[in-house]
This record gives sequence, C-alpha cells and structure tokens, in this order.
Amino acid sequence: MASVDTTIQLIRTTGRDAAGKPASACSPALAKAPWEFDGTLQYGPGSSMGDVIPAGSPRQGGLPAEYQRASVEELHERIRAAKATLGDRVVILGHFYQRDEIVQHADFLGDSFQLANAAQTVPTAEAIVFCGVHFMAETADILAQPHQEVILPNLAAGCSMADMADIDSVEECWEQLEALYGTEPDADGRVPVIPVTYMNSSAALKAFCGRNGGIVCTSSNAETVLEWAFERGQRVLFFPDQHLGRNTAKKMGVPLERMPLWNPRKPLGGNAGDELLDAQVILWHGFCSVHKRFTTAQIEQARAEHPGVRVIVHPECPMPVVDAADESGSTDYIRRAVEGATEPTTFAIGTEINMVNRLAAEHPQHTIFCLDPVVCPCSTMYRIHPGYLAWVLEGLVAGETLNRIEVPEAVAADARVALQRMLDAKPKS
Ligand code: SF4
Repeated sequence: MASVDTTIQLIRTTGRDAAGKPASACSPALAKAPWEFDGTLQYGPGSSMGDVIPAGSPRQGGLPAEYQRASVEELHERIRAAKATLGDRVVILGHFYQRDEIVQHADFLGDSFQLANAAQTVPTAEAIVFCGVHFMAETADILAQPHQEVILPNLAAGCSMADMADIDSVEECWEQLEALYGTEPDADGRVPVIPVTYMNSSAALKAFCGRNGGIVCTSSNAETVLEWAFERGQRVLFFPDQHLGRNTAKKMGVPLERMPLWNPRKPLGGNAGDELLDAQVILWHGFCSVHKRFTTAQIEQARAEHPGVRVIVHPECPMPVVDAADESGSTDYIRRAVEGATEPTTFAIGTEINMVNRLAAEHPQHTIFCLDPVVCPCSTMYRIHPGYLAWVLEGLVAGETLNRIEVPEAVAADARVALQRMLDAKPKS
C-alpha cells in the first residue's frame, strides 16, 4: 500500500491513483513540503483549507534550510541517530492520523488521550515529542510530570475544529445562558447547565469545564460522559463538535428538536429564548473538516459496488452519515473492529485517510478502503513532516528545547479537574 505522500504525488502528476483509476487530491498543494505553505494565513491545503485560522494562532517560524534541503532518506537517518543518542530521555508519540513517514519513528501510536497517557508510562522521558496537533500536545503537558517538556514539531499543526470554540466566545455564551436559566439547582439538585468539552479543544476550554462543574469527553466515552452530565444538570452545553454531540445524544434518545445549535456570532446563539428553555443539549457550531466530507451518497456507492460491505464511520461525521452506516465509533473502535473480524471482510471506513491506509496495509486478509474517494488527509496533522521532527530531535541532542508547548499551571489545574471527572465517570450498564 503506497503512503499518502506517494499517493498524492502520483495523483498530482498523473491524475490517477496507484490502481490506475482517475483520482484527485483535495489540493495539489498537499504534495508540497509543509514549510512551503506554513507562511500562509490558513490551515493549509487540503480538507480544512476553507476554515479561517484564528488570529493569534501559533505560527511556525522558518525551518532551517539544512532540513528543507535534506532528502527524505537523510532526514530519516538523522531522526534515527538523534533518537538513538537521546535514548529513553525522549518519547515520540504518533497520532493515528499521522503519515507513515512519521509513525515509523513513534514509540506509541494511538488517539490523543491514549498517547497522553502512554507518555506517562515512560517517566524517564524528559521530552515528549507529540506528532499530532496543538490541543493534543497541550493535553500531554497537562498530564505530564513536572520534569517533562512537551514538544510539537510544527507549531502550525493546529486543529480547525478545536479552534472553532475559543474561550472568549464560550465565556460569552455562558453569561447569556446564566442570564436565561439562572444559577440555582432544581428540586433534584441538578444545576441549569453542565459544560462538556470534547478532548479536541484548547486547554482553556478544559479548564473552563473544570471551573464550572463540567467535564471532558472523548469519542469513545461521550455517552458515559453525557449520562454523568444529565445526572448533575438539567441540560448540557456541548462544544466544539456539534456532530459528536448530536450523534451521541440522539443515540441516547434526546429528540433533535431539543438540541439547538449555538452560533457564537449571534445573540443567544441564533435561538429564541423558549427554544433554549426547552433544550436538553445545546450544540456548539463546530465540526471537523475531515469528517464532514463523508456523505450518504458515498455509503450508497460503497454498498452498490461491494455487496455485504461493512460500513464504519467516526461519530464526528454528520448525523445522516452515521445513521446510514452499519456502525460508528472512535478511531480505537474502528481499529478494534477491523482487528476483531475473524473472516475476510470488506470494510468501507469513514475516517482520516492515513489511518485507513495503515489498517489496509496491516490487514491484507480484508478489503479496506476509505469512503471518500478523494485523497484527503487531515491537513494540519500533515504538517508534521520528517524535517520538523529531525529539527526538534537534533535540538534536544544539542541541549535546546524547540517548540515547547506549556500550559500555565493555573489553567492546567482546572483542566485536570475536568479530565479527572471524565476518568471517574463510569458507564451505567
Ligand atoms: S481530523 Fe479533524 S478533529 Fe482531528 S485534528 Fe484534524 S481537523 Fe482536528
């Protein structure tokens, strides 16, 4: 199975994929090295290129020319050499959505929370190099021990979804909700609103939840977390991903009409006061640019072309897509579903292309393909290029910590409260 890099190059130069079928990449610019587009004021080419990058987002300074000029083979060699020199003083974490060129150097592969926890199993590591996006490195820093420093190889690797809910807009929303609902608990002791933030959010929002009786969730435990929240609150404010919130609450029986959308640019989020009074889950107007690309038409096509196909999508996909799929679940759920299939199976998967390609390569007994025929990786993850990894590792060898992600302790302390509530929440059944 060709890597995503190779596939994109092939499509760009020939207009066809490795099987010779006509194909297109979401942007030919994806074939460029990341340092050629870091200077632009957008998230970069690819699926999230239409999202507006917030002012004040971290920008990556220029990568030294020696790394830009080096061949990929030389970069891999330098990464291996630096890693060998650093030994157990460094741990490299690779998110499931990273390109193979990075994953081959990772000590751990997983989703954001698995990786933050995995780093804690290596207490000798003074440096945690997180090959993922900004909020993931923040979470790792929140959970890291005091002697550990977290590094994000390319500071421009943000997450467009996480950036759709900033702390000022959420504070403003909270003030409006408090004015509408008051702050007194009902006869059952349930407060008017519980804030719930998806793991894919800034440290400031996790801290907001910690301070305001709220909690964090992942795509694996969103239902358990909502159960926890409904026991303590009359309603939930769920941010930033509307789709995960809607798909999870719908599965739990919350009617769609009791899930208004909150648009932070409008008074009362664009809702009438009585709609909000009746709300059970208020959904923030956020989404993942990668997962919102999946459609029911793609599922219909997969079923027509592959009778008996098993369709699994991520719950960040829009509700009609989740409803039309056979199953939905987190990246870890998808990985376990494929690993657990005892008979040769055809899987159509609705999640990020790097992960799908890796599953296909690791399980040749199955036919595994991405529901989206257009090659479209998470373009911000894509910015973690071997050039940046070599740069930060050689910096460590030289005694310099580059691109450190440091969450102020006051923020980290509140965020830990919300994360701990999540860890303590247990499923009812
Ligand atoms: S896949 Fe979506 S949610 Fe995940 S990092 Fe990329 S943009 Fe963010």
